[in-house]
Amino acid sequence: MPIEKITVPDIGDFDSVPVIEIHVAVGDTVSAEDPLVTLESDKAAMDVPSPKSGIVKALHVGVGDKVGEGAALLDLDLQEEAGAPSVAHRPEGESVPSGAKAQGDVHAQLVVLGAGPGGYTAAFRAADLGMDVVLLERWPMLGGVCLNVGCIPSKALLHAAKVIDKASEMKDHGISFGQPSVDIDALRGWKDSVVSKLVGGLSGLAKARKVKVIHGKAEFEGSTAIRVTAEDGSTQTVTFDKAVIAAGSEPVELPFIPHDDPRVMDSTGALELADIPKRMLVLGGGIIGLEMATVYEALGAQITVVELLDGLMAGADPDLVKPWQKRMAPKFENIFLKTKVTNVTAMDTGLKVDFEGPDGTFTDVFDRILVSVGRIPNGKKIKAEAAGVAVDERGFIATDKQMRTNVPTIFAIGDIVGQPMLAHKAVHEAKVAAEVAAGHKSAFDAKVIPSVAYTDPEVAWVGLTETDARKQGRKIGKGVFPWAASGRSLANGRDEGITKVIFDPETNRILGAGIVGSSAGDLISEAVLAIEMGADAEDIALSIHPHPTLSETVAMATEMYDGTITDLMPPKRK
Ligand SMILES: Cc1cc2nc3c(=O)[nH]c(=O)nc-3n(C[C@H](O)[C@H](O)[C@H](O)COP(=O)(O)OP(=O)(O)OC[C@H]3O[C@@H](n4cnc5c(N)ncnc54)[C@H](O)[C@@H]3O)c2cc1C
Repeated sequence: MPIEKITVPDIGDFDSVPVIEIHVAVGDTVSAEDPLVTLESDKAAMDVPSPKSGIVKALHVGVGDKVGEGAALLDLDLQEEAGAPSVAHRPEGESVPSGAKAQGDVHAQLVVLGAGPGGYTAAFRAADLGMDVVLLERWPMLGGVCLNVGCIPSKALLHAAKVIDKASEMKDHGISFGQPSVDIDALRGWKDSVVSKLVGGLSGLAKARKVKVIHGKAEFEGSTAIRVTAEDGSTQTVTFDKAVIAAGSEPVELPFIPHDDPRVMDSTGALELADIPKRMLVLGGGIIGLEMATVYEALGAQITVVELLDGLMAGADPDLVKPWQKRMAPKFENIFLKTKVTNVTAMDTGLKVDFEGPDGTFTDVFDRILVSVGRIPNGKKIKAEAAGVAVDERGFIATDKQMRTNVPTIFAIGDIVGQPMLAHKAVHEAKVAAEVAAGHKSAFDAKVIPSVAYTDPEVAWVGLTETDARKQGRKIGKGVFPWAASGRSLANGRDEGITKVIFDPETNRILGAGIVGSSAGDLISEAVLAIEMGADAEDIALSIHPHPTLSETVAMATEMYDGTITDLMPPKRK
């Protein structure tokens, strides 16, 4: 019975690295290439695969041990290998589907569950790296929430809202267009055509890359198999070497709200644009609720926003929300802060809503309600437990920096792995997962993820906020440039904006930024790049920005910080 000592292979420039995970226990049978342990350097995590098949007889390392090249990891009994199925990294008590790989109707090197921005990106990147990929999607179209019922349709409608507002504002500049007449069917049709164009493009891209798309509800049957149930009830099993979970999230429902009443909408319902209600309640003052409130207000609805917290757009500094509120509050019927909705009753005449606010309880009746109180991940709906993938109570799946779940051959990305639930985060995580699955050394090491509310004005922020700095007791320096001093914003007739850049006062390096104003969502990218590049105040202020542009405000806010501003009086040095 030859016992072979399995040792740490060449680990490059490192003398020793910690063991962060052990995938086998004494007595486990492993096949060649099954992962035995995961080592982590400051650059990447690396699995040590078994060089041969056999049975683990002894383990010589534990999690947290530091090991160098040649260190003993475990003893493998090579004689007892024949015909044994692989159980490496199998969670206790879980049975591997017998012969799943052989029996699957379809087999893929990589299967991706969910075709949202995370899923289709992972599938396409992996295919480009040479993997044979199957993409599973329960909806008839690709693109997930973002393309079908999220980012894209909402931005199409926000564009229409902006044009209505701009046209109306032009009367102050001597140009009148008269009252807009809204053909809701045509507007809906245009929004749908934008979505169709993008979604159709995705199908073409999948075909061009030879990514096989299977439509149906996917559920894990084990750590190497997924069952897909099509709409007609037929099923097929897809077996895989590796998988990426990208099943996204869904709107939260509240128990005291009659969600089955068609007048109660979630964001998907609101985007359907069934009609323009006379009075609409937006329950939840986050980004999605306020974007939809902007659309419906421009189309003629009287909007009330109710929010439990003491401010809107949680996460953004209050000084950035203020200009938005100053502009929009007079357009809305009401904004109730620190107010709870305690009950909604469906009546023939409307939806009766009970509120509980700082001044007591009150009641009102609305034609429609948009419930936008957050989104819940779909982790509990894919039978992840059958694969041994850990899902927390809320439905999130934890991953490491390589987007691996606790099962090293199964990755997870996008909304299902945690906040912020944003498409651009999903896309970047997807590329990492695909690259790691294809054997590349990748890790998700973005320093910051920007957030944008595409309201009017837009509000965008990235990195450290003033609110967070205060909570952390961290000293910061800041430069604030009011757009009232920007030639471009004055020429645009919209000078309510602010650009704020936050610096480390010791090193002058940029730590964060916040912008409120037209196109803030586009402008914030400069701050993202500056943070990623470790830029300091001089780097930003001395980069020549074109004049007259809104992008100049980023440089000017920085000049406010370092005292070199000439377009305004520099702030007094403390
Ligand atoms: C109204 C609205 C506006 C938004 N605007 C923005 C924005 O402007 N910018 C931004 O960055 N983000 C925005 N978001 C958030 C963004 O849409 C999500 O962060 C993004 O879609 C997450 O991508 P994902 O790939 O993780 O999941 P999703 O897009 O949710 O995709 C998951 C996919 O998995 C499929 N799926 C789920 N379960 C199964 C199963 N069992 N079998 C088969 N398929 C399954 C789903 O059908 C879906 O297609 C918005 C969201 C909403 C609701």
